[in-house]
Amino acid sequence: TIGDCFDETVERFPDRDALISRHQGLRYSWKALQEAVDQAARALMALGVAKGDRVGIWSPNCAEWTITQFATAKLGAILVNINPSYRTHELEYALKQSGTSTLILQGAFKSSDYVATLAELAPELRDATPESFKSQGLPELRRVVCLDAERALPGMHSWDGLLAHADRVSAEELARLQATLQFDEPINIQYTSGTTGAPKGATLSHHNILNNGFFVARTLNLSEVDRMVIPVPLYHCFGMVMGNLGCMTHGAAMIYPGDGFDPRSTLEAVAEERATTLYGVPTMFIAELEHPDFDQFDLSSLRTGIMAGSICPIEVMRKVIDQMHMEDVTICYGMTETSPVSFQTQTDAPLEKRVTTVGTIHPHLEVKLVSPETGAVVPRGETGELCTRGYSVMLGYWNNPEATAKSIDEAGWMHTGDLATMDEDGYVAIVGRIKDMIIRGGENIYPREIEDFLYTHPAISDVQVIGVPDEKYGEEIMAWVKLSEGERLDEEGLKEFCQGKIAHYKIPRYVKFVDEFPMTVTGKIQKFKMREEATHELG
Ligand code: ATP
Ligand code: MG
Repeated sequence: TIGDCFDETVERFPDRDALISRHQGLRYSWKALQEAVDQAARALMALGVAKGDRVGIWSPNCAEWTITQFATAKLGAILVNINPSYRTHELEYALKQSGTSTLILQGAFKSSDYVATLAELAPELRDATPESFKSQGLPELRRVVCLDAERALPGMHSWDGLLAHADRVSAEELARLQATLQFDEPINIQYTSGTTGAPKGATLSHHNILNNGFFVARTLNLSEVDRMVIPVPLYHCFGMVMGNLGCMTHGAAMIYPGDGFDPRSTLEAVAEERATTLYGVPTMFIAELEHPDFDQFDLSSLRTGIMAGSICPIEVMRKVIDQMHMEDVTICYGMTETSPVSFQTQTDAPLEKRVTTVGTIHPHLEVKLVSPETGAVVPRGETGELCTRGYSVMLGYWNNPEATAKSIDEAGWMHTGDLATMDEDGYVAIVGRIKDMIIRGGENIYPREIEDFLYTHPAISDVQVIGVPDEKYGEEIMAWVKLSEGERLDEEGLKEFCQGKIAHYKIPRYVKFVDEFPMTVTGKIQKFKMREEATHELG
């Protein structure tokens, strides 16, 4: 189980750095982290949290997040990751959908006031008691821990107040409970990003996520000498599995540069902590590369890292390798439902493959590409829906057997909803989501192809292509373009740039210049929102 593996790492590397939360000024060795984790686990037990109970955590990145992650793993309580940018409607959905009985939340962060949001959801909340929650339509909620003691409402525990209960449960009692846990039991509910609509709760076991974290980090050749900067959110599998569990299974240090993403504090963390490893989604790497002070940071300690989460532009990959010293950077493909990673580029693969594909299938997993219409396996080189099978496939969507049955077929294949191609050597390239594919006058158009082409324009810093409704062709192509600092380009110029270089029907009919794109908190672009906005604007 995750708890057993954690204890083993502590035994192997007791005095090495385990966790550094820079914005909080907190540093833990593995031994010190174990003390904090065991104390939190015993305190939760003392308050009555039992195996299988759902413990929600709603906070930007902080040390307590990770302590809670490992503490719940030791108890067998199911950690529910709640997106830090949720508001009342989404919070209510996640709490009720998961049946969360213990909620650990931050006081406030930037424009998010967590305590106020909870209070808004339950306006007549007198105090944080089960009776009070019940009267407010949150019947399963029993206790709330507020990480910011000053913001705690009457009846809420502060973090220190929680820990004060630890003495009521002995280390032996915790160890006895830990020994009863099974590796295939659920330990985590992760909501999908909500890139294509309402988030779904994927139920994951120890076996699912522990192994995935291990294999992801093994591809990076991670060991106890490595130090990883994690600017991606912990609530998402990128942070908690590929980051935290990847480090934990190999004894590497987890370094949090801040509570939200900021390119400067990320670069600073790499330089000051002499980090070897850096994670991010493409938009984060773009922001770091374009930061005006980029050249002032000594990034020479970097060796490897991961770019993942959405399509990784080839130009950005090249820059990360050349300008950030990340010679061994790898790309991953995965989804929350598969723990998450199922493809990763090997660090020794040919450069061309490393920048143009998501690599080959991960150890102990199977892959096939099928026609979305017929379900038949497509020939190599042709586009099909990506399906994966193996240890990493989730137990199912929490409390949603219909949705589970739609995604995982009877033979155990996870249907990803993504389109891909595979070459003779097994390298897979992601073409895009089935939902984002544009059908213009009967022609299938993959936005990625146009995006990759437009990226080669020197004035363009980021570009996203969508399909918008069109009377004549069914759909027309629209590009949303973000220009680099100080650059100029207009619609005519962009279309001229395309003339003769890409097929006429792929040239965007509409161009919109923007400063940003609608995004999830993980930095994933929500094309369904772009489509909604554009459709509305075009009337
Ligand atoms: P939702 O399912 O709620 O709409 P989501 O699919 O974005 O949101 P995640 O599970 O976080 O939620 O993301 C998985 C998806 O991210 C994949 O299905 C794929 O579309 C995309 N993705 C992940 N990695 C890559 C990659 N390397 N290249 C292209 N796309 C990727
Ligand atoms: Mg999805």
